[in-house]
Amino acid sequence: DHGLSEVDPEVCSIISKEKERQFKSLELIASENFTSRAVMEAVGSCLTNKYSEGLPGKRYYGGNEYIDELEILCQKRALAAFHLDEKKWGVNVQPLSGSPANFEVYTAILNPHDRIMGLDLPHGGHLSHGFMTPKRRVSGTSIYFESMPYRLDESTGLVDYDMLEKTATLFRPKLIIAGASAYPRDFDYPRMRKIADAVGAFLMMDMAHISGLVAASVVADPFEYCDIVTTTTHKSLRGPRGGMIFFRKDPIHGVDLESAINNAVFPGLQGGPHNHTIGGLAVCLKHAQSPEFKAYQNQVVSNCRALANRLVELGYTVVSGGSDNHLVLVDLRPLGVDGARVEKVLDMASITLNKNSVPGDKSALVPGGIRIGSPAMTTRGFKEKEFTAIADFIHEGVQITIDAKGLVSGSSKLQEFLKFVASPDFSLTDKVS
Ligand code: PLP
Repeated sequence: DHGLSEVDPEVCSIISKEKERQFKSLELIASENFTSRAVMEAVGSCLTNKYSEGLPGKRYYGGNEYIDELEILCQKRALAAFHLDEKKWGVNVQPLSGSPANFEVYTAILNPHDRIMGLDLPHGGHLSHGFMTPKRRVSGTSIYFESMPYRLDESTGLVDYDMLEKTATLFRPKLIIAGASAYPRDFDYPRMRKIADAVGAFLMMDMAHISGLVAASVVADPFEYCDIVTTTTHKSLRGPRGGMIFFRKDPIHGVDLESAINNAVFPGLQGGPHNHTIGGLAVCLKHAQSPEFKAYQNQVVSNCRALANRLVELGYTVVSGGSDNHLVLVDLRPLGVDGARVEKVLDMASITLNKNSVPGDKSALVPGGIRIGSPAMTTRGFKEKEFTAIADFIHEGVQITIDAKGLVSGSSKLQEFLKFVASPDFSLTDKVS
């Protein structure tokens, strides 16, 4: 059996180039992170060879004694990492990623064409929460369910809970979804619970972006108020790519969530679980219970605040005026420039972030903002000082975009900083393994 470089130099070389890109750039995409070497070892292990349809102790294949042990360990760690009582909460660790996890919840508790309400995509929500345009039902969620999005109050950049309440009273959704891909503030879970109760809806939180922060208790806890909590595992939680669904064990609105959700995952929408991912996730959930992890998440939030403060100092409009979590949303429209162009210019300087629509945007193709996240560079050891410098570099990039002066090669301070980032002191994975 031969190694990758011998068997397939072409793929090997692409991986090397991608590793170098990750190593050299300032990674500021809010949904990305660098997982640990230990997680990657588990993901690259023999666990990928095994079929294990079903749940521990109830499999459709033989030879699963160790896989059962692994999945039970992963479930126990998941509940412990989020401080949950095993008598009250259960978890399914098999979802292949965040979008399938969400769709599994919908098919578990809804009938086709039941009504749902999630945050609108142009206001920070996720596609899988039911996005549609006036012309087209874009997401599978909006094709198979009737979606009426709620939105932000454009004057404050905060969720418009009054409007959500009014719309919910008329629309009477069966499910209300909290959670977002580009919302820099905590959700008001007690308020959402009240609205859901008033209309008899389930309340679900998709904590994909902030699950690491939730585990470390540095943001509000959705578990206190929600019936179901979904998450990806590869964002602030810093695990392998995957998903999880947490559910209350007591029946809600007469529905046994445990069996409905487990059946929706398998056989409803998936086949064999990806056991290598479950192995990596178990390792990630061990990390998530360590004091270092809590310190890391605190740093993620402090770094994000430092970044937001500096941007405000430089005169930028930051949606909602700041951030409670790991991301900042910058509205570039007052400067007469768009997020797409700024993303491109910064990419040339190895600063990776993404264009993002901001409340009030007319076009999703040329959005007026950028989203900047702190988890990945915090993993690489950055503190407030470096994040303040990052704000200055972004500012340089924006200025260059505005002036349309061309590429960033004239920026010697920036080049120096990037050399520093690429220096051997910044090992990608050692710090967290
Ligand atoms: N939910 C939220 C809030 C997200 O931001 C994302 C991805 O960015 C997802 C779900 C989907 O996750 P995946 O890309 O793993 O399907």
